[in-house]
Amino acid sequence: MTDNLTLDRAMPKTENAVKHAPCRFCGAALHHTFTDLGMSPPCESNLSADQLNQMEPFYPLHVLVCEKCFLVQLEEYVSPENIFTEYAYFSSFSDSWLAHSKAYTDLMVKRFQLDHDSLVVELASNDGYLLQYFVEKGVPVLGIEPAVNVAKEATKKGIPTLVKFFGRELAAEMVNDGTQADLILGNNVLAQVPDVCSFVAGMKTLLKPQGVITLEFPHLMRLMEGNQFDTIYHEHFSYFSFLTTMKIMAKFGLTVFDVEELSTHGGSLRVYARHADDKSHPVTDRARELAEREEKAGFTRLETYFSFDEKVKETKRKIMSFLIEAKRAGKSIAGYGAPGKGNTLLNYCAIRTDFLDYTVDRNPYKHGKFLPGTHIPIFPPDKIRQTKPDYVFILPWNLKNEIREQLAYIREWGGKFVVPIPEVEVF
Ligand SMILES: [Zn+2]
Repeated sequence: MTDNLTLDRAMPKTENAVKHAPCRFCGAALHHTFTDLGMSPPCESNLSADQLNQMEPFYPLHVLVCEKCFLVQLEEYVSPENIFTEYAYFSSFSDSWLAHSKAYTDLMVKRFQLDHDSLVVELASNDGYLLQYFVEKGVPVLGIEPAVNVAKEATKKGIPTLVKFFGRELAAEMVNDGTQADLILGNNVLAQVPDVCSFVAGMKTLLKPQGVITLEFPHLMRLMEGNQFDTIYHEHFSYFSFLTTMKIMAKFGLTVFDVEELSTHGGSLRVYARHADDKSHPVTDRARELAEREEKAGFTRLETYFSFDEKVKETKRKIMSFLIEAKRAGKSIAGYGAPGKGNTLLNYCAIRTDFLDYTVDRNPYKHGKFLPGTHIPIFPPDKIRQTKPDYVFILPWNLKNEIREQLAYIREWGGKFVVPIPEVEVF
């Protein structure tokens, strides 16, 4: 049993002075820090050369945990309208993500017998990278994607796409127009909507009586185990445990009946939900088992969440030690990738061109730009072949195997790879 004194000490930075917005799910006041990564610029706001000499907006990356529902969350400092109108992330630039999407399509069509009479609706459908596989199988689709430039790419591929934000209102309009879905899917979107209640209520409305919802999002348990603090950024408002997800779904009349634990994004959940009164999909053993495992791991006790902040600080110290030693030994270091998570890590650890000469990315939209805050330049991947760095510092560490294969040629000059998370690893 923990006495009060110890508990006080175990609660670093319980907030008294700062007034936070209430919990986005249950409305309770938020008092407890999960981790505080200081001030950071919005992670998708890459800069052009003429912006380098100007002021830049920085917002707090201060993550809180709700003492009532245990939703780990970031306040809405940056509104999605600002983030998503010209979004630079194109899913089609990752080979492993495409393979993942194709496998998902095969699984869904088979398990839920989707055919030419079904409708699959994807929320945040990006450039149509996933829905294209349903189209190939003759299953009708509809994408919903708020970023204009990305949605345009989807339309070019023949994926019907609504350029809108999804929520209660849009769902009601769609149902009025006679649209309801057999399968609603949302990959890495639940975490990115500020109004999680409107989003889930909308799914409930849009779903046919025997329809199924699947949602994929990073699993909080894996984030904590793996020191994945760099998956925290302003656009990522909520961080879900399985238990909290079940609670949120239940509030809107949806039952989580199955779950898969996936290796994507450092450890994600694929959650399956249906109407609470639809008995055609019984709750599976693996859903029950994961709920029990989280309960045992302490996800319904506030103290469990307080251990993370110190782990984050120690991870930073290890990354800094590696970089300082490498630079003292006269080594050159290039970055690989310009993902959102890279910017959290680089800004929190204050890694600029004093450590990383540059970074590279396959997405041509990013070439010639500079990372926000740190001003590290972004080049096409060929730059690595030209400059032969001693180390390639992999920012999207979840894709390290894919990148290791793509860049196998760095061995020709004795180059090595470095991943910063969960621990600094050189290989
Ligand atoms: Zn709450």
